[in-house]
Amino acid sequence: MLNRELSIVLESPRRVRPRYFDIPTVGSEGMLLKVEAVSICGSDAERYVGVKFGGRLSSPLPIIMGHEVVGTVDQIGVEASKHYGVKRGDRVVVEPYILCGRCRYCLTGYYQLCMNVRCYGINISCEEPPHLWGAYGQYMYVAPNSRVHKISNSVPKEEACLASTIGNAFRWVCTKGDVKPGETVAVLGPGPQGLATVMVAHHAGAGKIILAGTSIDRRRLRLGVEYGADHIVNVDEKDLLEAVSDFTSGEMVDKVICTTGSVKAISDAIRLLKPLGVCVIPGLTGGRAVPMLTDEIVTKELRIIGGLGQPWNVEAAIKLLESRKYPVGKMATHNLSLDEADKGLRLAAQEVEGEDPIKVVLTP
Ligand SMILES: [Zn+2]
Ligand SMILES: [Zn+2]
Repeated sequence: MLNRELSIVLESPRRVRPRYFDIPTVGSEGMLLKVEAVSICGSDAERYVGVKFGGRLSSPLPIIMGHEVVGTVDQIGVEASKHYGVKRGDRVVVEPYILCGRCRYCLTGYYQLCMNVRCYGINISCEEPPHLWGAYGQYMYVAPNSRVHKISNSVPKEEACLASTIGNAFRWVCTKGDVKPGETVAVLGPGPQGLATVMVAHHAGAGKIILAGTSIDRRRLRLGVEYGADHIVNVDEKDLLEAVSDFTSGEMVDKVICTTGSVKAISDAIRLLKPLGVCVIPGLTGGRAVPMLTDEIVTKELRIIGGLGQPWNVEAAIKLLESRKYPVGKMATHNLSLDEADKGLRLAAQEVEGEDPIKVVLTP
């Protein structure tokens, strides 16, 4: 068994199986990661229950999922070592993307939009050699043109694997939202993305942060306060517009970030903004149309911006994690072993009664 490793394979919706694979020998530009921890992305849970994603997010089954990962460099080729600036034994975070490095999006820094993008744990089947294309396993293969970052041993593993989640938040708050010190920010949806967004908005010096969720989000809303939310709103109990108006003495907010896929929340978002405000939308509705009062966009000269992925944002996330400024680990409510992946996915899909997970982390 020495040259074999164990990964968890999604064969069809709701069917995950352990499977042994040969441990590959990597070439000069390749790398092999020994997985230390992988967190379950909301999209993993959706794939597990059978949601079909389109385009670059569609998954060819069977697949080894997992794209939020921290591990140590187990094997690395000479060129890869030079390129990434890491050596055997280093602890690293690997971004989900494998770049083509040639298309206009790669060349202009928007590699999450790469025309030929391949993503670990998302759109490469484990039938394709060397098979280990996802992090739900003891090892993951890291192809040439990946994005690899060193991370300090001082960051606990269940926080380190959240580097891409926090990288996303840097994208919504800083790169896209351009949140300035003192500005008022509303975050709609207190899932892991929303909580990370609150944290980064606080870190960026936002003046007032409002976090909104529903009755099922009580635990998340409370954690949001620890990450810097000044006000929380349960929209099942209070009208969001009214609440935001009260908290801001009628001025409303400079920036609103919709991490939720709720049609109603996204539809309401622009009404929360003051003139010249910005609405950043990373939340996916699953193809549902969102009705919007476009007159508000015109008469307040609003800007509405999409947000996808974390190109050039993981660096800042790692720096924040290494500072140990926020209790990031409190998001990781469930730590399971890799062979409990099935349970972990059901937890992440909010299907396990009596449990209220925020983030589920798997450890091989
Ligand atoms: Zn993800
Ligand atoms: Zn490209």
